[in-house]
Amino acid sequence: MIRDTDTPTALINARVVTPDGVRDDLAVCLRQGRIEALATSGIPDDADVIDLLGRYLLPGFVDVQVNGGGGVLFNDAPTMDSLRMMTRAHAAFGTTAMLATLISDDLEVVERGREAVDAAIAAGLPGLLGLHIEGPFINEARRGVHDAAKIRALTAPVLEQLRPLEHGPTLITVAPECLEPGMVRRLVERGFTVSAGHSAATGAELVAAIDEGLSGITHLFNAMSPLGSREPGMVGAALDSEAAYCGLIADGVHVSDTSVRIAWRCKGRDRMVLVTDAMPPVGTQLEHFELLGAKVSVVDGICRDERGALAGSCLDMASAVRNIRRITGCSLSDAAVMASTTPAAFLGITGERGAIATGLAADFAILDYDLRPVATIIGGRTAWTASGGTRPV
Ligand SMILES: [Zn+2]
Repeated sequence: MIRDTDTPTALINARVVTPDGVRDDLAVCLRQGRIEALATSGIPDDADVIDLLGRYLLPGFVDVQVNGGGGVLFNDAPTMDSLRMMTRAHAAFGTTAMLATLISDDLEVVERGREAVDAAIAAGLPGLLGLHIEGPFINEARRGVHDAAKIRALTAPVLEQLRPLEHGPTLITVAPECLEPGMVRRLVERGFTVSAGHSAATGAELVAAIDEGLSGITHLFNAMSPLGSREPGMVGAALDSEAAYCGLIADGVHVSDTSVRIAWRCKGRDRMVLVTDAMPPVGTQLEHFELLGAKVSVVDGICRDERGALAGSCLDMASAVRNIRRITGCSLSDAAVMASTTPAAFLGITGERGAIATGLAADFAILDYDLRPVATIIGGRTAWTASGGTRPV
């Protein structure tokens, strides 16, 4: 496994994680990069049979917020090489589809990032799904570690310059209170998926943006107006919305366990999106890195700048899955939905990925009994194994 995707492959003896529970009785048949069948009996005679020895087979993780990994920050070098390093680093944690993410930067950097992602997808880089433009159209009052000098207004001429990818989904995070009425709608019309974040919006301002087509909340609770008594703020309006998908950094640091459980009860698995907000150290032993000129230290897996502010995370998706189970007590199926199915729904690609179902991309995270990654398959090919071999087990 699995170099040649023309030969059918059958994954047997897996504990297959579906939205409806874990199934022990399914063989998952792959051909040409797709899931050809889920079989309870009879696999193709010519199939390469791979015994997964009772490991968990999850749909590959879809991470909509990846700033870096493998020692690389996408902002620093928005190139194909960076994307290769980032996808490779995150494949070791079950991520099969990521949105490379740019934090607030000059529009020329955003454009270079867009071109690099489009070119990499067109070239078939495994594990890359699209682009997330997080800023610069955000509220300075809630900028977190974003560089204040990069933040700018989204004027009509700038909006006309902004282009989404040609080859994949493009997510853009904006502070809705900093935009003229109608701009969220125009972004949606131009092909962007629009999310609110780094924002001091009132509840009413967020609701107005959702009415214009905004569909996401970027790292719920972090860098946004909190829930109050008479003013629900971003957090209150996001929790109250039945429509909005909420990204959540479940690293045990960015959001308290209590707040995570409140979000889980309000939003449920069909609106919660596990994200990493990952920085360069993921997949490395780095203890320091530079974030747009600021020195960031990694201590006990936590990234902080010299002011002590959280500067992204060292989280990986497999850890997020383990954490959300521990914090909420949710099932493994629920966690897999939040790590794959719901982010795919948020991006409008459930016909392509986000579940183990016939016809979808053959993207899988294979985890052991402790939910630690054993192997990752992207498009029917082995992308990473813990053993270093080419067969997943
Ligand atoms: Zn952010």
